[in-house]
Amino acid sequence: MNLNNSQNTFENWKKIPFAERQNLMQNLAEILLKNKEKFAEIITKEMNKPISQSISEIEKCAGMAEYYSKVENVLDINKIKSEFAYSEIHHEPMGIILGVMPWNYPFWQVLRFAVPAILAGNVVIMKHASICLKSGDALQELFEEAGFPKHTFTHIKVSHDEIEKILANPLVQGVSLTGSEKAGSAVAAAAGKNIKKSLLELGGNDAFIVLNDADLDQAAKSAALGRLQNCGQTCVASKRFIIQSSIYDEFLEKFVTEYKTYIVADPLDKDTKIAGMAREDLADDLEKQYQKAVENSAEIILPLERIDKISFQPGLIKMNLGNPVLDEELFGPLGMVLEAKTDEELLEIANNTKFGLANSVWSKDKKRLEFFINNLQSGTVSINQITKSDARFPFGGTKNSGYGIELSPNALKEFTNVKIVLGK
Ligand code: NAP
Repeated sequence: MNLNNSQNTFENWKKIPFAERQNLMQNLAEILLKNKEKFAEIITKEMNKPISQSISEIEKCAGMAEYYSKVENVLDINKIKSEFAYSEIHHEPMGIILGVMPWNYPFWQVLRFAVPAILAGNVVIMKHASICLKSGDALQELFEEAGFPKHTFTHIKVSHDEIEKILANPLVQGVSLTGSEKAGSAVAAAAGKNIKKSLLELGGNDAFIVLNDADLDQAAKSAALGRLQNCGQTCVASKRFIIQSSIYDEFLEKFVTEYKTYIVADPLDKDTKIAGMAREDLADDLEKQYQKAVENSAEIILPLERIDKISFQPGLIKMNLGNPVLDEELFGPLGMVLEAKTDEELLEIANNTKFGLANSVWSKDKKRLEFFINNLQSGTVSINQITKSDARFPFGGTKNSGYGIELSPNALKEFTNVKIVLGK
């Protein structure tokens, strides 16, 4: 792959002052908002997200670009007081950064990585999921229309095999991948082989913990939304609902009532809350996981009913400890429910997973919440709400959910080299 165009753009782009780059981010935000219906339709037609959720995704992207258009420049030269005449920390952009991106939030995931990387002075080449090529093209046009120099953001249409060759190219300095553990491991291995930096945003199996003093009405409503928005295909979706025994029956009744309000319908209808999954093979995988869970003694609360090739009426299963499916990520409209007596038992079940992305805990008692805040193993702990990434706060996983930070001022530093200037 000829990357000279990207490299030439980088040589000039890195010299553009931060404030000027920020003005272009402001343009990007405005174009996103102006065209939100058009971009949302591309998303919905490619991966079946209900159109009102696609519009929200574009609005969220615009808000994030707007945030970065005004963010503090944490990359400014930092002069440290010392006995030396020269005593400085510089952050320099690295060059061409590769993005490998998933289909579940086709605009958000790409922009969440690309906006801070580009604002820091890098240029981006991006391989999108193979079902999101129109989104990829639209994103490249978006950067061009906003006034970014040509080749600041380039959508590349390449196969898995080519990713390894791209990472071996000396012009490419690093990679950010959002996707499955399997893809993350393969791409990070290729990066490591070539001594290139990698950042991984991978899967989750997050807990939604309901303590016996929680607001059960609010918790039940949020639990259904947390599991079923984007048809359950969200990395930070609540996937394991761990409920305190003394309120188990009361909560479950409310949860089931809320769950049943999600009825599969046309994704292009603005009132639709849930539609089909993104691909037939993903629906097949989810159905197999459901069958495996039931064969291993999971109890059916609401059956996962297949309606057509890609759609299900959402399912809920009560899991027994030791069920092998408890260790897997369910990326679709199927929730797992568990029951435990004490706060310590609830915590132990929540942490008993190889993932660690974003757990949510529900209680009115500050002391009990503190116990969970201090002991949950995840990048985010959400209190009395479902997890939603927010441009102002760092986002990232622990354990097999990945490493590295996106969003917030911290993300500006991820693809920079730190240079120390020291002496007399
Ligand atoms: P995926 O199958 O891993 O695909 C993600 C991207 O990686 C796609 O562009 C895919 O290309 C590419 N890819 C897959 N295997 C590859 C390989 N061996 N070499 C090079 N590229 C490869 O994931 P997905 O199904 O799109 O997304 C769902 C997963 O992403 C879930 O596990 C979810 O939790 C995770 N996710 C995590 C976050 C987070 O922030 N932590 C956010 C969103 C999603 P093709 O499409 O061409 O196969």
